[in-house]
Amino acid sequence: MTITRREALKFAIAAFFSSFTGAAASQSLAGKKVIVVGAGIAGLGAAQQLHAQGAEVIILEAENYIGGRIRTDNSMGAPFEYGAGWIHGPSAQNPIKVLAEQVNATTAETDDDILEVFDDQGKPLSDDAYDHLDDLYKSLKRKLNAHEEHDETRSLRDIINQLKPGYLEDPIGRWMATAYFEFDIGAGIDDISAMNAFADEAFENEDVVFTEGYDIILAPLAAGLNVRLNTRVSRITYDNKGVDVDGMKANYVVCAVPLGVLKAGTITFVPPIPEAVQTAVDKIGFGTVTKIAFKFDNPFWDVETQYFGIMTEPKGRWNYWLNYRTFSDENILLGLSFGDYAPKADKMDEREMTEDAMQVLRSVWGDKVTAPQQVLTTHWSENPSFNGAYSYPQVGGSVAQFDSFVEPIAGRLFMAGEHTFFKYHSTTHGALLSGRRAATAIATAEE
Ligand SMILES: Cc1cc2nc3c(=O)[nH]c(=O)nc-3n(C[C@H](O)[C@H](O)[C@H](O)COP(=O)(O)OP(=O)(O)OC[C@H]3O[C@@H](n4cnc5c(N)ncnc54)[C@H](O)[C@@H]3O)c2cc1C
Repeated sequence: MTITRREALKFAIAAFFSSFTGAAASQSLAGKKVIVVGAGIAGLGAAQQLHAQGAEVIILEAENYIGGRIRTDNSMGAPFEYGAGWIHGPSAQNPIKVLAEQVNATTAETDDDILEVFDDQGKPLSDDAYDHLDDLYKSLKRKLNAHEEHDETRSLRDIINQLKPGYLEDPIGRWMATAYFEFDIGAGIDDISAMNAFADEAFENEDVVFTEGYDIILAPLAAGLNVRLNTRVSRITYDNKGVDVDGMKANYVVCAVPLGVLKAGTITFVPPIPEAVQTAVDKIGFGTVTKIAFKFDNPFWDVETQYFGIMTEPKGRWNYWLNYRTFSDENILLGLSFGDYAPKADKMDEREMTEDAMQVLRSVWGDKVTAPQQVLTTHWSENPSFNGAYSYPQVGGSVAQFDSFVEPIAGRLFMAGEHTFFKYHSTTHGALLSGRRAATAIATAEE
């Protein structure tokens, strides 16, 4: 069965509305067995819908927790989000916002403009420099959006150099390219496709964080599901009659592991996945972003400012900081590394990363920076269950490659995960919609 883009959209919309209405699902999958590989939000979303339609569902998860790239640690007194931190575009149409409302989650709006930026000498920017920053960014973004040259071989760096010569030599331009583009897209400007980087879509409204932790949305999604933790799948065999996942037989399999796992080839598909899908695995990018959180006894920074930007070298090194005091009582600063620097930071142990990030804080606040009472760090690209943070349109790749994951393979193997949903790739809502789309496609295959 071939699913066209239009049908895929129809599935996603149907799945979305079925989650809203709470209407009793038909038991059309009674007697069918489905294995879901990966208990991230895509796998959980697929499993929940299949279970509601009467299927016997078993989720196999490599790690010892559910949620994958939604993972919260509350040990600092406020949530440290290893992975997803924000609901991007929490409008009524955003299915993560819907889940958040269903569990009465409290959220706090964040504002990118409540920002103070420090230059490479640790001095706050002057008002003129802010105006310059604003003008530079807006004019570049305008030019990038209007840029229609259909050439997928050109990187964001190439096009920035062409549209705004000198931008990347200007410390302000360099900082923006990394703190805005490399953060948003999750890779370095040399690897990002300029043509496709901004071709995805977003829901409306200002981003929010969960004040009690993102993982609050997971329990209801996982309720009643059979999840086997610490179970790493290594082989998926399929034909048009059924599937076998490491010796376990079923009618269908939903493969909802991260793109980084597919790239590593640690799951063997028998027969191999179709060439177009393998090309998508190879050509879509999977970058990383690194976080460090410090909890201090007392704040040495302005507690009213939401974000601090610091023009560090090399580019991408701990150059963007979120001040937790703007939505919690805890004296926590969360630092981020992007682009080429993030995989380097991922390789540092906690002591090295702490020293590296503390140097950056000292470049601004000097001796006022005290020793942290607690530190938490992320290393996404070093974990074989992920091998990175999120997917991005890579130089040399195409949007159509993302779509090639949508078509069921032999009518039995269904791909899900944020990397399979171009419109909202690299987000939790894209991942959830992809899981529901896979579940709807299985139900459709049974009709
Ligand atoms: C640092 C970071 C910041 C982010 N920030 C945001 C944000 O602010 N807002 C936002 O919307 N999104 C954000 N994202 C992206 C978002 O977290 C992801 O898009 C989404 O959670 C992915 O869900 P998924 O189900 O596709 O994959 P995952 O959550 O990765 O789930 C896949 C699961 O498969 C499991 N697995 C892997 N290999 C195997 C195997 N062989 N056998 C069995 N199981 C396996 C993994 O352990 C994992 O649990 C961020 C991600 C990261 C890493």
